[in-house]
Amino acid sequence: MSENIFPTRTNVDAEQRIRRTGHPGCVIWLTGLSASGKSTIATALEQYLCDRGKMAYMLDGDNVRGGLCSDLGFSPEHRRENIRRIGEIAKLFADAGLICITAFISPYRSDRELAHSTVSPGKFLEVYVNAPLQVCEQRDPKGLYAKARAGKLKEFTGVSAPYEPPLKADLELHTDTMSVAECVAQISAMLERVLTEKRH
Ligand code: ADP
Repeated sequence: MSENIFPTRTNVDAEQRIRRTGHPGCVIWLTGLSASGKSTIATALEQYLCDRGKMAYMLDGDNVRGGLCSDLGFSPEHRRENIRRIGEIAKLFADAGLICITAFISPYRSDRELAHSTVSPGKFLEVYVNAPLQVCEQRDPKGLYAKARAGKLKEFTGVSAPYEPPLKADLELHTDTMSVAECVAQISAMLERVLTEKRH
């Protein structure tokens, strides 16, 4: 929109940030249907990592939509812009040295690919939080599926709007058969591998 943009280069490099945080920054991008378990896992993972001295921060659909993205609805265009903004924020957090955990349905593959390409190379880990639609609908912790089935909620993912599952996620969690603790342990193990590789 503007031609007069001159980015300021920081003098603080990634190594200096790692010396402060003890680990490189990255993005753990959770994707899945509503009620598949993204927020539950993100909350538990954030707590788990912070308890172990890691710098972790969770971005969740409901709090971002209440502020940064409060001007956006649920049309494909607005969903795209929602994910674009979250991708930009997640990139900044990862560059700052944090483990940024995002918990958004992010139903479109192309939108997730955009977020992936926004974040610095090798710092984006896609986790498919996978529970069958039927299970999500039975859980329905916010009563949203019931509203969508009654026609009171338009463009609801899985009911009246599509969900495109990842083709090659870094990790897939079947939350209908795994406990929250198992899901956190699997993400943590993947993270440990990736963060260790990045340091060497
Ligand atoms: P989302 O953020 O994907 O919309 P929520 O985390 O808000 O989903 O809701 C998921 C629901 O499923 C919660 O009520 C949670 O207790 C339940 N649940 C059961 N098993 C799991 C699991 N393994 N992982 C995450 N959530 C689970």
